[in-house]
Amino acid sequence: MSVHAIAIHGGAGAMPRESVSNERAQEYRASLALALDAGFAILDRGGTSLDAVTTAVRMLEDNPLFNAGRGAALTRDGWVELDAAVMAGAKQKAGAVAAVRHIKNPVDLARRVMEKSRHVLLVGVGAEEFALEEDFTLVANLSLRTDERRRQLAHEQQGVSVSDLIPSPPGTVGAVALDSRGDLAAATSTGGMTNKRQGRVGDSPIIGAGTYAKNGVCAVSATGHGEYFIRAVAAYHICCAVEYRGLTLAEAAREAIHKNIRALGGTGGIIAVDARGGLVMEFSTEGMFRGARDAHGRREIGIYRDEAKTAG
Ligand code: ASP
Repeated sequence: MSVHAIAIHGGAGAMPRESVSNERAQEYRASLALALDAGFAILDRGGTSLDAVTTAVRMLEDNPLFNAGRGAALTRDGWVELDAAVMAGAKQKAGAVAAVRHIKNPVDLARRVMEKSRHVLLVGVGAEEFALEEDFTLVANLSLRTDERRRQLAHEQQGVSVSDLIPSPPGTVGAVALDSRGDLAAATSTGGMTNKRQGRVGDSPIIGAGTYAKNGVCAVSATGHGEYFIRAVAAYHICCAVEYRGLTLAEAAREAIHKNIRALGGTGGIIAVDARGGLVMEFSTEGMFRGARDAHGRREIGIYRDEAKTAG
């Protein structure tokens, strides 16, 4: 029996219930459900985990509720600068882009880097030059900025030093999947952190930090304060703990999030899937926008900590 499974996230962070209206929460749940089901449908009809994760992430990038693609968090100078990565577990191929300003769907460009270039990570103008050669349409940075993010930046810059990194409203997006051939894949996309310096790159496009996949072991996508995830090599740590120390995926995820990253002073979350389709969603923040669905009939959407199994 095929064991295909997918999990997605839309970012982890502080999200006091009183600050998220019921209506807003419903919008988040509905958006997560759409992306989750679109990714799952690909797996269900025998598609690849790589297609499933890129499709789910692209849908979330296109949704301004999330901190990726249009509606991403702004740098301290008011720019959208985007990071994204994909990794295919079969041959541990990976592609990533960082600090791109004119790409509507960075996850697609990351995948193109993996499939069409001899590189893993392209940044800034080099990534955009490659995009042009690959017939991507470059978009104006203005078209990626939303009023809500402008207000957030202005609000958050009041009273803090311009060099402070402000914990962003959650909204980084990611997906992990196992397909019926046993191939694992992961993808992550983000605008990073509000008020970041231009050129700052977070964990999402760093293979092994925010994104990782290896067949026979697991696929991981992270969200949270990226500097800590880079220093903890979080996604790779989880896969190593499973592969070399025999931890379950759930144990490995708990260790990374609640022990290693916490010890450094960071918070955040991960979604992960193992080689048998076991899904894990672990976070140390108040909430994490998330969804999980598998071939055994599990389907859940969640935001807060105390709703482990809420159907969407
Ligand atoms: N991890 C992302 C970064 O640091 C941000 C987030 O997940 O909220 O760029």
